[in-house]
Amino acid sequence: MVRPVEYCVSLKPYTTLRAGGAAEQFVVARSADDMASISEYAHRHDLPVTYLGYGSNVLPSDDGVPGLTVLNRSSRIEIDRNGTVRAETGCSFQDLFLKSVQSGLRGLEFAVGIPGSLGGALVSNAGAYRSCVSEFLTELEIVLDGTRQTVSPSWMEFSYRNSILRRAKPPRCALLSVTMKLPKGDPKRSYDEAREYQRQRIGKQPPSPSAGSFFKNVNDSVLAESLETLPPALKVAGVVPAGYLIEQAGMKGYRFGGAMMGRRHANFVLNVKNATAAEIYHLAESVKKRVARRFGVCLEEEVLYLGDWSRVGRSHD
Ligand SMILES: Cc1cc2nc3c(=O)[nH]c(=O)nc-3n(C[C@H](O)[C@H](O)[C@H](O)COP(=O)(O)OP(=O)(O)OC[C@H]3O[C@@H](n4cnc5c(N)ncnc54)[C@H](O)[C@@H]3O)c2cc1C
Repeated sequence: MVRPVEYCVSLKPYTTLRAGGAAEQFVVARSADDMASISEYAHRHDLPVTYLGYGSNVLPSDDGVPGLTVLNRSSRIEIDRNGTVRAETGCSFQDLFLKSVQSGLRGLEFAVGIPGSLGGALVSNAGAYRSCVSEFLTELEIVLDGTRQTVSPSWMEFSYRNSILRRAKPPRCALLSVTMKLPKGDPKRSYDEAREYQRQRIGKQPPSPSAGSFFKNVNDSVLAESLETLPPALKVAGVVPAGYLIEQAGMKGYRFGGAMMGRRHANFVLNVKNATAAEIYHLAESVKKRVARRFGVCLEEEVLYLGDWSRVGRSHD
């Protein structure tokens, strides 16, 4: 293998929720080639493998993550004059925005304030302010079942905060790099737009460790129409924010151990006092039950659970 492997490495410092257990084996990839050779090695040795970007959308189990965890720090970004961007998936999504604007391109303003890697953004089709990462892709380089190859974006089956890699049993795939086509833009306008998004986030987002929105918003026009206090624009769109349902169910500020539902933003699970992953999980389950009882809706996690949850009774699908 290309890099030294460490054993029993705590994943807490590698997650924005600052919770969870240890990786059985841990290795850092510094380039797309590193990522490829590690994935090929894992496939040859039938080793379970978990890829980690900036850990801003995951909760590793307190009982740890079996097999090999690969911290993806491949970060090369190349941009040509025609607006073609080639980026390794370990680059920070915000860096990608900055470099694209410096090259006179636009489109990624929404990425400002999303504290993840490009790879993590692709897995959940990350987005904000009516844009998402899949809009600009033309090609992806992946390792699928041990074979390095290029695929078109349709292979990822992108939809709202979703892709093929979020399935209960996803394909064994490492995302290595992407090619994107971005339109030409005006840097001043892009910076102004990004600054405005940042300003809106600062007003809403709490400073405690979190993984951003814990649950996905609900697309259900019948439910939206039935909610008297839902803003008219959301009724028209048929979208019910998870935070609205959590607040209406009386769970804003609700606490379990060291974990708490946000007071400013009810859809944020906050680690306010050294919460264990199990405490975060149990808090999320209580919220789901309360919302289901009140509105008949099953909230779906945006955050991904990693590793072995059998002891807390969570099944993997
Ligand atoms: C304060 C805050 C605000 C946020 N705001 C937003 C927002 O506005 N919109 C939004 O969509 N999200 C938001 N998020 C969630 C999160 O930042 C995004 O989902 C982000 O794109 C995840 O990237 P990551 O590198 O942290 O992924 P990680 O959490 O490291 O990983 C996420 C998943 O992707 C897999 N993965 C990561 N890299 C690869 C790879 N190279 N190959 C294969 N699989 C891989 C992991 O195994 C895991 O299953 C927010 C989070 C926080 C903490």
